[in-house]
Amino acid sequence: RVAARAVGLTKAYGQGEARVVALDDVSVELEAGRFTAIMGPSGSGKSTLMHCFAALDSPTDGQVFLGEDELGRLGDKRLTELRRDRIGFVFQSFNLVPTLTAQENILLPLAIAGRKPNQEWFDHVIDTVGLRTRLSHRPNELSGGQQQRVACARALAGRPEVIFADEPTGNLDSTSSDEILQFLRHSVDELGQTIVMVTHDPLAAGYTDRIVFLADGRVVDEMLEPTSDLVL
Ligand code: ADP
Ligand code: ADP
Repeated sequence: RVAARAVGLTKAYGQGEARVVALDDVSVELEAGRFTAIMGPSGSGKSTLMHCFAALDSPTDGQVFLGEDELGRLGDKRLTELRRDRIGFVFQSFNLVPTLTAQENILLPLAIAGRKPNQEWFDHVIDTVGLRTRLSHRPNELSGGQQQRVACARALAGRPEVIFADEPTGNLDSTSSDEILQFLRHSVDELGQTIVMVTHDPLAAGYTDRIVFLADGRVVDEMLEPTSDLVL
């Protein structure tokens, strides 16, 4: 099953002399229940690709599908619902609310959406992330790795169709980084989650099932079943 796909996706910013083609005719399929890495030099279009998939940015040309839905055919209201209910995000900078506990942070998007958490799923996520004893702590009482695990649990809480993670280990030391990557790997293997991660780190990419390489806004290479001794 394909969780999301781009077909002939082109994104240009600006006009005339200032026109920059960030994505140039990109077609890529993201298989459900797999962990995909997106790699490439700075400016190669990684963030733009994630933003187009997540309905945070609209293509200049081509189509983006989430499941069977073509994003370009959905109105603003449906796009807002889609971002809220069907997609999860993890950022480099955690983006937790400092005044809320870990548990409140994790459940915040569901609360905003007026959705009830599924207790069984919540327990499953918390145990997978290993946050059981940290639920009543506030972000400043947690290590960077624990804060990022809270952010991952928050992205998972609503059981989204796809999680987009933009350099989730970019601000972490190697031990915390390993923790997060193992957690993401577990959520793919044990919870069946679909995850797409932008990373610069070959070690991080070694945890995934597939690497898509971008350069100058195009898909230039692909690697299946990368190993942890990956050398780029
Ligand atoms: P990456 O994430 O791989 O670093 P980006 O997707 O951020 O690449 O950027 C791809 C190209 O598009 C770069 O040349 C960048 O400067 C340009 N770009 C990205 N966003 C914008 C924007 N909002 N306006 C103008 N140019 C942009
Ligand atoms: P990243 O660390 O993901 O490569 P960037 O610094 O490329 O981040 O871009 C951060 C944000 O700024 C992006 O969301 C993009 O939309 C915007 N951006 C990037 N390049 C430009 C640009 N040349 N002009 C305007 N906005 C840009």
